[in-house]
Amino acid sequence: MDWMRTLYSRMQYRVRAGAEWSEAFTSLWGILAGDSMSPAFFDAYISDFKPPTTESDIIIGDTPIGNMELADDIVEITSTNPKRPDLTHAQEKLTYTEHDYCHNQAFLELNGSKQSGHIIIEQVNDFRYGGVIFSSDPRPKHLFERNYRTRAAQARSALYSVFATEAFVGTLSVHDGITMYYARVDPYLVHGFEAVIDIDAESLKLLEDVQLEFIRRLLDLNPRCAIAPLFVETGILPIRHRRLILALRYAKYTLSLPDRHYAKKAYLDAIVLYKAGKRCWVRDLETALTKLPDFPVITDITQMESSGGISALVDEVHDSCAQYLHKQLQSSRLPLFNNPHRSLNFANPKSFLRKKKYLHTIFVPAHRRAVSKLLTSDHGLAIEQYRRVRRRDGSAIPVDERWCRYCNSPTESEVHALFLCIGDEAFPDIVTRRQQFYNDISRILPSFSVDRCLRNPSRSIHFLLDTPDLAPAFGKYVFDVLAMFPGFPKASDS
Ligand SMILES: [Zn+2]
Repeated sequence: MDWMRTLYSRMQYRVRAGAEWSEAFTSLWGILAGDSMSPAFFDAYISDFKPPTTESDIIIGDTPIGNMELADDIVEITSTNPKRPDLTHAQEKLTYTEHDYCHNQAFLELNGSKQSGHIIIEQVNDFRYGGVIFSSDPRPKHLFERNYRTRAAQARSALYSVFATEAFVGTLSVHDGITMYYARVDPYLVHGFEAVIDIDAESLKLLEDVQLEFIRRLLDLNPRCAIAPLFVETGILPIRHRRLILALRYAKYTLSLPDRHYAKKAYLDAIVLYKAGKRCWVRDLETALTKLPDFPVITDITQMESSGGISALVDEVHDSCAQYLHKQLQSSRLPLFNNPHRSLNFANPKSFLRKKKYLHTIFVPAHRRAVSKLLTSDHGLAIEQYRRVRRRDGSAIPVDERWCRYCNSPTESEVHALFLCIGDEAFPDIVTRRQQFYNDISRILPSFSVDRCLRNPSRSIHFLLDTPDLAPAFGKYVFDVLAMFPGFPKASDS
């Protein structure tokens, strides 16, 4: 305390304009904004703020909670019957707060509308406390719907700001983009995880849409690209799993607190409510776990009662995420994501979420984008373009009838274009370019064998991408080859 007193009493300021500095001067007003001691000072200042305990206070465990203070953000709580609201107890608290405490004791003034010296109490449908918006308006579907909408809008605004920087600094590298994501967008997406559990799919989707848009823009993929590769390639955890893991860790943290701590009392009270069959935070947590896509996590309340049990649940959510991503990668649309080639290991679910080396070893943005498009089937090759096309009778076009536009092989696939296509008389460039690529690779890695590459092209693609010396040459090759197969391929013979 002496140190802080010294800091404030001796502090001097100077104003800088360009290279010039003003004389030093002292300020007798204000606090160090942003300093963690500032709210602590306010807490010390209002430590004797003790509104009366009334029978309408909320009871958590055996503790009545009638007011909360987060520095100067103060809330007083009164439970009433919505059909016959009785604000007698609320008046007791207001009289104490305005008259006994603020006016007579602390010399503070409440921040509210005034008329003839009396504070007007307004009825509001939305109320923000601790950064979380609570809505009582009947229009939103649930208490936190406006909170989701606000956070999603803020996250999207941050997303636009991040990509607006490209006008000044050029294309963001994936590494920088991910750093900016965690610094500017993720805080809005995870905000309130300890209070708001994602049990409403529609609200959660607002946050998921922003996360997907960010990763797609970072990798320059179109909105129809497959979702799982976005996470697997960048190492970013899907927001649904991330928020749930953070909430579980918060539950574990509350259990580690002393018994007198309100957060622990609230958590233990939620467990009591759960056991009594009532709606509560713990039940929401259970619901969110059972709603995880494809691989729900089933829990029982005993797991929630111990920190070991909660840690096991966190591991199960990581497993569920890995299984979900793995299942999505098995799609016939993603032939280059076969498990054996990508070091994905169920014993280590985090292996599914590692930023891939090629995203930074291929430093030319256009080449890196070409590789992302190749891997995620976001390209113009016939195998992908004819996936959504139907014949006149409504049937799908078989894979072996998506002909190569140059050599008339049955399938114009990724592997075909990169390693097998022989072009045609009018277009021999692809063979020349491939030979040049083989020469480049052989020069960098003399042990490279074209035969080995052709024996298992899919595995070779991942070998080339995972080898830092080879990835840039491969990235340029992929860029050149995809440029040779532009737009929509020729019409199918059918
Ligand atoms: Zn071909």
